[in-house]
Amino acid sequence: LNRRLAEFGTTIFAEMSALATSTGSINLGQGFPDTDGPLEVREAAERALREGRGNQYPPGPGVPELRTAIADHQRARYGLDHDPDTEVLVTAGATEAIAASLLALVEPGDEVIALEPYYDSYAACVAMAGGTRVPVTLRPQRDPRGGGGRYVLDLDELRAAVTPRTRLILLNTPHNPTGTVLSRAELTAIAELAVERDLLVVSDEVYEHLVFDGAEHVPIASLPGMRERTVTIGSAGKTYSFTGWKVGWTTASPELTAAVRSAKQFLTYVSSGPFQYAIAEALRLPDAYYEGLRADLQAKRDLLGEGLAQAGFEVYRPQGTYFVTTDIRPLGSGDGFAFCRSLPERAGVVAIPNAVFYDHREAGAPFVRFAFCKRTDVLQEAVDRLKRLG
Ligand code: PMP
Ligand code: GLN
Repeated sequence: LNRRLAEFGTTIFAEMSALATSTGSINLGQGFPDTDGPLEVREAAERALREGRGNQYPPGPGVPELRTAIADHQRARYGLDHDPDTEVLVTAGATEAIAASLLALVEPGDEVIALEPYYDSYAACVAMAGGTRVPVTLRPQRDPRGGGGRYVLDLDELRAAVTPRTRLILLNTPHNPTGTVLSRAELTAIAELAVERDLLVVSDEVYEHLVFDGAEHVPIASLPGMRERTVTIGSAGKTYSFTGWKVGWTTASPELTAAVRSAKQFLTYVSSGPFQYAIAEALRLPDAYYEGLRADLQAKRDLLGEGLAQAGFEVYRPQGTYFVTTDIRPLGSGDGFAFCRSLPERAGVVAIPNAVFYDHREAGAPFVRFAFCKRTDVLQEAVDRLKRLG
């Protein structure tokens, strides 16, 4: 293994899912739903397979039906106008979109700012691109009235992290693992900084539809001066609960799209042929689908969050995503790694230590992430087990 990748080892998600299987534990680690997305979308995939649509290499940028549906989605939801032919690119999940964006846009030695804790592929992709990652740490802030705190971005810290070598800011909102949804005011400040310092933004918005309590998801590309300097990333895995299909996409200016496509064509070239047609149909689902998804997940967030609080965890109530971050110090441990390694044995539950998402490991040490995109009975059983931890 080369020096660029040597530090990364096996992803925590594979390690913890294997642990869940070998110990027969409830897997609240890796984020994937235990209920598949809408039947009508699965039937659309079946039809495409049967009718021979997408069984051979689809077009490099993605099938036109899907690119048009993505452009329509961005226009209808966010007022963002993108030409499906030159400004939309279908990728093998958001994972490839992230990799291709960084490989295409980062020169060796460039600095890439990412909000820490960050999704684990960011660090590896910055490294593969030969860039240097510059983490800006989101800080946990307790709610003085109780009821769950929030992770906040210190805008001064972000400004101070920009240097003449900074090439881009890698954003993620709604944010994995903290569940923070960046506000319009925070995003406006980031946009102003990007314009002032002439930075690109790669904005990972895979959880765009998973927001709670009426929180608003704002794509940074919709803010003044940002459309031309932003690559926005979406994923059908998250929005429609088909993580195995690996259908993701980018929307960006023709120049940025062409750049990302240059890298993408040598990574996978194309992927997921028949599933692309099915996701084109999924993108036409009525608003009721998204409202139902949000209501279901919000109830699950509350079930798991309240259960974890009763079990003694300090809970940071997520405004978005399907993850909840907890502080385990009230349970007498400050080491999330050790805690997660022993949790299957002690309670029959698997979770993820947030420290893996940090360069400043000590800042993440006492935090542990649980996924709540699981059936209600599964979450209830996990809560019952965790309450017996004591
Ligand atoms: N970005 C974030 C923040 C994620 O949580 C995930 C899913 N784990 C991805 C990207 C990858 O998405 P996909 O499954 O579409 O590759
Ligand atoms: N995005 C999922 C998570 O954060 C996992 C994806 C993966 O396993 N690569 O849990």
